[in-house]
Amino acid sequence: MDCVLLASGSKGNCIYIGNETDAVVIDAGIGYLYRTLGEYQLPAENVRGLLVTHEHSDHVRSAKAFLKSAHIPVAASGGTLSEMERNGMIPLSSEKILLGKGIEAEFGTLRTAAFATYHDAREPTGFIIDDGDSRIGVCLDTHKVTDTMLAALCACDAVVLESNYSTSAMKSDTFDRCKMCRSCGAACGGSCAVLRPYPRYLKDRIIHDGHLSNEASSEVLSRLKKSVGTVALAHLSENYNRPNLAREIAEDATEGGDVRIFVSDQCPMYRENRMVRFSV
Ligand SMILES: [Zn+2]
Ligand SMILES: [Zn+2]
Repeated sequence: MDCVLLASGSKGNCIYIGNETDAVVIDAGIGYLYRTLGEYQLPAENVRGLLVTHEHSDHVRSAKAFLKSAHIPVAASGGTLSEMERNGMIPLSSEKILLGKGIEAEFGTLRTAAFATYHDAREPTGFIIDDGDSRIGVCLDTHKVTDTMLAALCACDAVVLESNYSTSAMKSDTFDRCKMCRSCGAACGGSCAVLRPYPRYLKDRIIHDGHLSNEASSEVLSRLKKSVGTVALAHLSENYNRPNLAREIAEDATEGGDVRIFVSDQCPMYRENRMVRFSV
């Protein structure tokens, strides 16, 4: 299967996962999505469904327009579907498919299961996509990863995992590792300061009910490294993270394993890859 992270982060999230005949799109957080697929030579006619992790705007911004132009069903947890409906994000003509604990769905040759994540949304989930040949797990927007989630991710060939913020940067509003000029190289311009410091209440929300730190993400990776060969780090904070820092911590955590690591970043200043694309 091919996995393409078209966008990742608080400005918009969208992932295409598919084989030669069938595909799903996970989250519709970028505009002109139907057209964008074409621009990247991703066959929109293969897309059998839009899967939504949760109702925050960076994940559903263009859901309604995309569902209308692609004529496909939308699949999510009951809580996410009802929040999307309440906010008018689902066209009346669209079929809704419930995903949840013990409830799987098939999109052509792609079998899809959901698992609960921990985030300040109604009923957020991650997804496992399996086409019989390979399996890809997607775990975004969660402040913790439980054993149940780990078990699901361990059984995947590739995992897209949130690596949102640096714990020390979140504490001090500076990147101390950048002092060594290892973490972000020339792109940091030698500056150790975060772009835009957050107020305390927002930091608390991110840490306790929002997102996964580089450190928590790397702990997950150290558990995955024996079974998962490909990892894409995603949903990096543009303020409290830098791609090379996230990569370094991930590489340390997966040492001894044979893991390909990709980093998807939204901030052009530190962008290491415009788009992450891999096959498993
Ligand atoms: Zn998000
Ligand atoms: Zn969110």
